[in-house]
Amino acid sequence: MGAGGRMSAPPPKKSVEADVHRRVPYTKPPFSVGDLKKAVPPHCFNRSVIRSFSYVFLDLTVAFLFYYIATTCIPSLPLPLSLLSWLAYWVVQGCVLTGVWVIAHECGHHAFSDYQWLDDTVGLILHSALLVPYFSWKYSHRRHHSNTGSLERDEVFVPKPKSELAWFSKYINNPPGRVLTLAVTLVLGWPLYLAFNVSGRSYSRFACHFDPYGPIYNDRERTQIFISDVAHPPIAAPLRLIGVGLVEGCSGDSR
Ligand SMILES: [Zn+2]
Repeated sequence: MGAGGRMSAPPPKKSVEADVHRRVPYTKPPFSVGDLKKAVPPHCFNRSVIRSFSYVFLDLTVAFLFYYIATTCIPSLPLPLSLLSWLAYWVVQGCVLTGVWVIAHECGHHAFSDYQWLDDTVGLILHSALLVPYFSWKYSHRRHHSNTGSLERDEVFVPKPKSELAWFSKYINNPPGRVLTLAVTLVLGWPLYLAFNVSGRSYSRFACHFDPYGPIYNDRERTQIFISDVAHPPIAAPLRLIGVGLVEGCSGDSR
């Protein structure tokens, strides 16, 4: 840059690629996870039930406040303004509820309190309310953290070698393509991953976060995957209807 008008030929593509590869770190860093942990002040590892619950109550209070304001004020606004207001509400409420989602994520890492049962109870309630199968994601997510970036063992966002890229990837390797990829990922990525393991680790058969007998989980985890399913509203609601139908059918009550 600023070469005073001196023109130089662009470097050959091969040498640019080789340069990129040289800059990518591939050796082990000169420190371990243990060293990193030692560098964090010890008080940061103390878990406080009161402080953790204060975040839950704060986030839920703000969420209910926004909900109350939106449902009481927006319906009385004229049409174009009400549509814009709903859009703004979705974004703002989405940010607040992401905070709730993160608290349940911390429960999955046993960071909420010193009590595993309390972490799992709070996590199950909060994640189920946000349509996340708590235990199912907790186990796959833990393995993601311990294998991040591994081509063979990472659970999600698994990097692909160049030879396995989709045929259309060269057409979306540009700013509009990245915007489209981001939009699809943010809108559909989460449910597609949970239900169909899209972008997930390759398994020998169909993998799904709602299947207690699926290949993602081991025998020790299957009961909890079932509990996540039963607590998950889109699954719990039809199950409840079937249950009510069975009870009514058995008792002869046709209400
Ligand atoms: Zn995590």
